[in-house]
Amino acid sequence: QYLLAGLPDRKPDPLLALLKKFASNERLDKIDLGVGVYRDGTGRTPVMAAVKSAEHHLWETQDTKSYIGPEGDPSFVSLLTHEVFGEGTVTEKLAGVQTPGGTAALRLSAEILAHDKDRTIWIGTPTWANHNAIFGTVGLSIKTYRFFDPRSQAVHVDEMLSAFESAQSGDAILLHASCHNPTGAAISKEAWSAIAEVVARKGLIPLFDNAYQGLGRGFVQDAEGMLIVLNAADEAIVAISCSKSFSLYRERTGAAFVLGNSATDLNKGVANFAYHARASYSMPPAHGAAIVAAVLGDPGRRKLWIDELASMRSRVSEIRTALADRLSIYAPRLSAVAGQEGMFSLLPVTPENVTHLREVHGIYMPDSGRVNLAGLRIEQVDLASQAIGELL
Ligand code: PLP
Repeated sequence: QYLLAGLPDRKPDPLLALLKKFASNERLDKIDLGVGVYRDGTGRTPVMAAVKSAEHHLWETQDTKSYIGPEGDPSFVSLLTHEVFGEGTVTEKLAGVQTPGGTAALRLSAEILAHDKDRTIWIGTPTWANHNAIFGTVGLSIKTYRFFDPRSQAVHVDEMLSAFESAQSGDAILLHASCHNPTGAAISKEAWSAIAEVVARKGLIPLFDNAYQGLGRGFVQDAEGMLIVLNAADEAIVAISCSKSFSLYRERTGAAFVLGNSATDLNKGVANFAYHARASYSMPPAHGAAIVAAVLGDPGRRKLWIDELASMRSRVSEIRTALADRLSIYAPRLSAVAGQEGMFSLLPVTPENVTHLREVHGIYMPDSGRVNLAGLRIEQVDLASQAIGELL
């Protein structure tokens, strides 16, 4: 038997393929709304000043690059824990490990969930495309429910809750902590409380994917819904990405946390994360986490980071408001885009519309209609809204 011929055909990630198409177009007025990275008002994804300062500090003080271990740097984990979860009772019930980005945090989470072969994970649709690959790869059974409808721009909290009602005790439910990818759809405080109630009553395990904290309503505010649920849950998992909040994308920085009832259980959770880390990437890369620790552990750098993150957030929300305002002229229901959060919204366009926008107007987005609002400069909003609006 041949090795390679027997492998399944794998298509490249459509967003990366789109990036290539964008790069090869020579049009000067082209607009990339595809790839999910923050861009500033000049279209760049800069290194944050707080990160530069931390790197400078590391260059001066780092005296070894010896191995650190599959759990990563405990001071990074501890500083991140306090920043993300605050000082409440939830923090005392958590333990975590450093991971190579949010993706590896999700993968470690998937591995420990899949230890029980009878467990199902419930995923709302649409969701980040990689979720299906991550949970499918470890053999978890996946069930889906409709979370959002791009035509009406409505969040189907009712369908989410009834899906959770039909779940078995011990099943996992995947929740986006804030800034939902790909829809931007926000969950109200009442809905978070209703989710918390069903989680506690049915003994479900919430798994939070927290990849955009600080790019929605505020760093603290973006964790509020998650904390409502974590306060009610018996056990839970949180996967954190520092890629967007610290603009560290290629440094591969993140963390996976378990929430549990006793120090013994938490130690077991961490030991199992470490086991799966060791069996795949052995240990996480140090640099990004060292940067985050040097930012969060220094009041001056931390303040700089908070301010920089606030200005990124306000740029995205300025574009969001302007785009919602213009698009709602063509389709009134798109005024809902203004109430969404984070970098993404999901527009009700067809793949034919997407091809038309690309070929006629040089506007790039995936066939799903997910747009990264940070891809727009404020002066491009009118033009882009008109091109999109005429198709709605
Ligand atoms: N989760 C969601 C919803 C995302 O959109 C992303 C990145 O795009 C991630 C997790 C993983 O981020 P990373 O592995 O780059 O830290």
